[in-house]
Amino acid sequence: MPIEFNDLDVVSKVGGLSSALIVPCNMCPAVTVAVREKKPFMNFFRSFVKSAPFEQYIRTLQSRLREKGVRTKVFRSSLYHQWFLCMWPWGQRKKLQKYAKQYEAVIVLGCESATETVRDSVKSTDCKVIEGMKVSGIMNAKLSFHLPGNISFEDCRTIPISQ
Ligand code: SF4
Repeated sequence: MPIEFNDLDVVSKVGGLSSALIVPCNMCPAVTVAVREKKPFMNFFRSFVKSAPFEQYIRTLQSRLREKGVRTKVFRSSLYHQWFLCMWPWGQRKKLQKYAKQYEAVIVLGCESATETVRDSVKSTDCKVIEGMKVSGIMNAKLSFHLPGNISFEDCRTIPISQ
């Protein structure tokens, strides 16, 4: 099911800005990065609520933005029901609205629906909404579980989205 993504050039879009809040969807983008890096999506025993490859991806993005003089923070959605930006509850949207006021831009890591959630949440602020990923297709994969607690996606193929 997960949507698959290509990265967009975020760094070129933050010119003139000094701060940005990174808002990641923790599902499809995290699966994309894990598959791309050929690493487990998650390990239940080491990190129950975070995907290590996606965390590294975000840290690298923060580092690249820091080099451009942009201060960043990650807006966390730790509870499982908050992982999917396309289905965010009201409370999480209000929380983002409050946090976003402290930043000049919000960088969305997710699909158009994720961007819509964020755009709707921050519409009362002056925040610029920047898309960090672009949909490339829908993933077809075999979900697998390996000891010690690794959840992975194998034999992945990208299925184009019909126009
Ligand atoms: S917001 Fe988009 S990227 Fe995130 S879970 Fe929903 S469909 Fe996937």
